[in-house]
Amino acid sequence: MTSTGQHFINGKRRSGSSEERFSVTNPATGEVLAVDTRASADDVDEAVQAARKAFTTWSRTPPAERCDAMLRWADLLQQRSDELAATESSNGGKPIKLARGFDVPGVIDNVRFFAGAARNLEGKSSGEYSPEHTSTIRREPLGVVGSIAPWNYPLQMAAWKILPAVAAGNTIVLKPAELTPLTSVMFAEAAQEAGIPDGVINIVTGSGRGAGHALISHPNIAMVSFTGSTAVGREVAKTAAGQVKRVHLELGGKAPFVVFDDADLEAAARGAVAGALINSGQDCTAATRAYVQRPHYEAFVHRVAELMTDVRLGPVDDPDTDMGSLISFRQREHVAGMVERARAGGAKVVCGGYLPDGPLARGAYYAPTLIIDAPQDSEIVQQEIFGPVLVCLPFDTDDEAIRLANDTPYGLAASAWTSNVFRAQRASREIQAGCVWINDHIPIISEMPHGGYKASGFGKDMSTYSFDEYTNIKHVMSDITGDQRKSWHNLVFTSR
Ligand code: NAD
Repeated sequence: MTSTGQHFINGKRRSGSSEERFSVTNPATGEVLAVDTRASADDVDEAVQAARKAFTTWSRTPPAERCDAMLRWADLLQQRSDELAATESSNGGKPIKLARGFDVPGVIDNVRFFAGAARNLEGKSSGEYSPEHTSTIRREPLGVVGSIAPWNYPLQMAAWKILPAVAAGNTIVLKPAELTPLTSVMFAEAAQEAGIPDGVINIVTGSGRGAGHALISHPNIAMVSFTGSTAVGREVAKTAAGQVKRVHLELGGKAPFVVFDDADLEAAARGAVAGALINSGQDCTAATRAYVQRPHYEAFVHRVAELMTDVRLGPVDDPDTDMGSLISFRQREHVAGMVERARAGGAKVVCGGYLPDGPLARGAYYAPTLIIDAPQDSEIVQQEIFGPVLVCLPFDTDDEAIRLANDTPYGLAASAWTSNVFRAQRASREIQAGCVWINDHIPIISEMPHGGYKASGFGKDMSTYSFDEYTNIKHVMSDITGDQRKSWHNLVFTSR
């Protein structure tokens, strides 16, 4: 167990100055990994002031220098990748193979991508849009960004928030979820060791209503960037609106997984199991609703259940473990509650739907679960589960498939499985989601944006599109005539 500080303010790791203590645990075993005190409003203010001060120099640091520091940062993270993966795995209850093969390499690639992107901020070319002026576009950083992150991919979420902000010349104060601060602090510490100046990246750990609210309502924050649930996102947006602050919201998801009757059934079944169970289903893009065209339906349900039963639950540090625990017993209660209500409403649990016993009983494990016969308007089909649960429903026509896919409040991600190019094109055009995969579900890549439609939020993480969130566009219009009396002055006065 470590009792070192779980905050990083102005280049130093330290404890919070409030008297409220919190502990960080491994949800797969209950082991306490760290204990610390929460950030107070004074700590948040100190972090914001440090970020304000750092902004004056960081925003003027030439992009090539920002890039060099970020590349050194990526190298340091690479050297520490085993330690980062072990910490991410134990704090998140996720299998070590996922942390090693997805979380950590994904973040290192993101750092390298944004290091290069720092030198490539784009805008419209300068030109004479009026015969008497040259117009130029300046893309400028905003100032101090206040960011709030969730617990499902702590390191990746910290990276998605911090990287585009600092690559564009902003400074940042990030509040990770209280359950999972460990790797966010390690990430910020490595940035400082790589030469990113003190105050550019600050981490304050605390509750949403405490440190989180103090951060987003701080008058010196130029922008709020939030990833989390739609319910909290609404509150965050209200607070930001009250102060006319820019806001970027990455919220919940309820991804449809549409299998047409010309799809490769085995590929689709495997894709559904991987897409539903990744990170124990605690993934905002996880496949949660499989709609399968009737001729394939029974075989699909049968094969998915067979594959789910083969998934190996186990200790998260065992390289052979496929699926770990949920993030907390509270989250497991939420998942189990939704499954029980679905069962009580007449849905059938084909596999799973129970808490594993034996050695896994001390962790927040939940068995991979497949549900059928749930009505489209039921809670389990409409609301986010955030657990290892897939619901499967049949459909008859293509029109019906598109309608059902769009029939929830969310619009973060979706997939369509087909060998017909016209069906694939139609699904990618008509499904309202920020990402539509064709014959796959889950992969992400640094160069491409991630973000929602509808109640899944607005704005983009990753890719150079994210710079639109973290920069202001300024128009500079310069007279090129040198005339004292401009032609348009006639509109206002005519005297010579
Ligand atoms: P959550 O909304 O409960 O909490 C997210 C963060 O907000 C935490 O750091 C929390 O402390 C903070 N918070 C809570 N109340 C706050 C308030 N009043 N003011 C300021 N901050 C506050 O979400 P969670 O349970 O941590 O994470 C799961 C959710 O995140 C799911 O809904 C999931 O879909 C979503 N998510 C979305 C994306 C995406 O890219 N769209 C990615 C990952 C997770």
